[in-house]
Amino acid sequence: MAGLLFILSAPSGSGKSTLVSRLRSLVSGLEFSVSWTTRPLRGSEQDGREYHFTSREVFEQMIANDEFLEHADVFGNHYGTGRRSLTDAAQHGRDLLLDIDVQGAAQVRRKVPDAISIFILPPDPETLERRLRNRSMAEGGVPDAVVRKRLDTARHEIAVCREYQYVLVNADLDQAVEELTAIVYAERAAHGDAPQQLTPEALARYQAMAKACRIENSQARLETVLASFAVPL
Ligand code: 5GP
Repeated sequence: MAGLLFILSAPSGSGKSTLVSRLRSLVSGLEFSVSWTTRPLRGSEQDGREYHFTSREVFEQMIANDEFLEHADVFGNHYGTGRRSLTDAAQHGRDLLLDIDVQGAAQVRRKVPDAISIFILPPDPETLERRLRNRSMAEGGVPDAVVRKRLDTARHEIAVCREYQYVLVNADLDQAVEELTAIVYAERAAHGDAPQQLTPEALARYQAMAKACRIENSQARLETVLASFAVPL
């Protein structure tokens, strides 16, 4: 295993958590970095599984101790990736997946230039708003102003999607999962670690799919989505 670092970013409501859990059930050898956060637990979340939930005091002490590879404030809470995640994965030769926001992704790209970055776009503002409102209901109904804020933040995040190496549009979940899988397999193959279980034909198909998701090959798709969010092209 090459020990690749994958960064995944997406606006809140893009269906990223579902995508990540599907990806992890399909692709072996991919470790998920459990971040630290000061936000409270939500729904069925468990400490140590989705996040390490902690206090502001502990988090700030960890910053002072230089324990984070990156950290950022998202919606008023601190989030950070522990350096340990990276060193543990490297030690075991495993690939690591970071699910982090655009600020964190920029920090990691600077520190780890080989990191492979992927941005997940919602197909259009209507779909994003519907997903955010459904999630708000699942959270027991968050105030309308919070949903508006998340939509506004999404626009700002979408505006930097060109800084990522790959973009995919989560319009159809199965397709998005397949594209994400394709990117992981294609990158492993490019780093001399072609998945053994794939036939040469299957690998070639994944490689073609991943290539189509590269930012330089996504102009047409990007234009449509960015225009729908009124983000300048
Ligand atoms: P949520 O609270 O909804 O799970 O996550 C909110 C946002 O924080 C998401 O965009 C997620 O990607 C981001 N996030 C989660 N963990 C980290 C982290 O360790 N660092 C950074 N920079 N962002 C994170």
